[in-house]
Amino acid sequence: CGIVGYIGPRVAQDFLLEGLRRLEYRGYDSAGTATIDSKQKLNVTKSVGRIATLAQEIAAAPCPAGIGIGHTRWATHGAATLTNAHPHIGGAQNLAIAHNGVIENFAELRSKLKTEGYEFVSDTDSEVVAHLISQCVDRRRSLNGNKDDTQIAIESIKEAIAHLRGTFGLAIIFSHLPETIFAARLGSPLVIGVGEGEHFLASDAQPLIGYTDRIVYLADHQVAVLTANSLQVSHRDSGVVAHDVKELDVESNQVE
Ligand code: GLU
Repeated sequence: CGIVGYIGPRVAQDFLLEGLRRLEYRGYDSAGTATIDSKQKLNVTKSVGRIATLAQEIAAAPCPAGIGIGHTRWATHGAATLTNAHPHIGGAQNLAIAHNGVIENFAELRSKLKTEGYEFVSDTDSEVVAHLISQCVDRRRSLNGNKDDTQIAIESIKEAIAHLRGTFGLAIIFSHLPETIFAARLGSPLVIGVGEGEHFLASDAQPLIGYTDRIVYLADHQVAVLTANSLQVSHRDSGVVAHDVKELDVESNQVE
């Protein structure tokens, strides 16, 4: 029921854990994080129950990367188990997603992806999103081999979410793009925190307090591309759109 993300010079897991703690009030049954290690491999840690348990798991095998996404889950499809906790992995271990919301047409997408060879490990509706994006990336990479990987990722995310019915806030990382976080929303809120040489992502402004007071609200049908030093927002069906950076009033947690 909550999403966080970080890209920049800090140890991402530190912000992710702190952010997930501040989202605890939204309610959750399990939690997890995904980072990208120095060998460009996804590093996923999950736990059922309290964020404190996740913190222990991470402390036992920390990953010092400056990129990561995190999730607190409020199960809608599939029990509150470790396997069903997010982030979920797509394709051949090449991307991780954290999803808030409900994918209404997951059953038909799931059976289609299964017949196309994708293996599902969870009972969630969310896992289809991971495999769907992965499939779009693989297709586009074979068609447009020399196109920029970031561009292929953006186009693939837009293509995949066009197939989804329901609601989503999504944070996505790709193991071959260790300097970029992608975000997309329809129905479920997402805010981006703009720092000095760093960007933050969260379901609401709570996790950002004390880190930055400059925030951007992602609107429905928008896709955001965050690197440490840049933020690009585009509309699913059109190109890049301007984004307003608003000032967060820390005292009241209201945006001015
Ligand atoms: N529907 C997804 C699941 O059950 C996401 C739930 C949430 O928003 O936390 O895994």
